[in-house]
Amino acid sequence: MRTDVFDAAQRSAVMRAVKSTNTKPELKVRAAVRALGFGYRLTFRLGGRDLPGKPDLVFVGKRKAIFVHGCFWHGHDCKRGARAPKANAEYWSAKIARNRARDKRVVGELKAEGWKALTIWECETRDAETLSKRLGAFLR
Ligand SMILES: [Zn+2]
Repeated sequence: MRTDVFDAAQRSAVMRAVKSTNTKPELKVRAAVRALGFGYRLTFRLGGRDLPGKPDLVFVGKRKAIFVHGCFWHGHDCKRGARAPKANAEYWSAKIARNRARDKRVVGELKAEGWKALTIWECETRDAETLSKRLGAFLR
């Protein structure tokens, strides 16, 4: 019989990740984009498949896409991104390295198809004014 495949540290990280599907950073970005007057879609399928990496916000007419990344999960080069769990450090660093590699690949794939991508990190959503400026500069 199989017991829980996750230990306590993994479990809580998984729960954080699950919860992050509709996290505040994403909601902040959506609100800022709306405030700027841009319409967006949450999903978009092209030729019967999702866009590479399933961006969080898609601007179809502009061929632009925004990713909102959690700093820990995607290995951002910031204080929170650098915080490594003590338990299963190898497991997490491998997982985060895979995420980073995939993020990079996905942006390249979008670019190859004529899309522009912007990544907004969780830590960049704290200051509403800076966030709004970045989004405006990207979307205009
Ligand atoms: Zn960060």
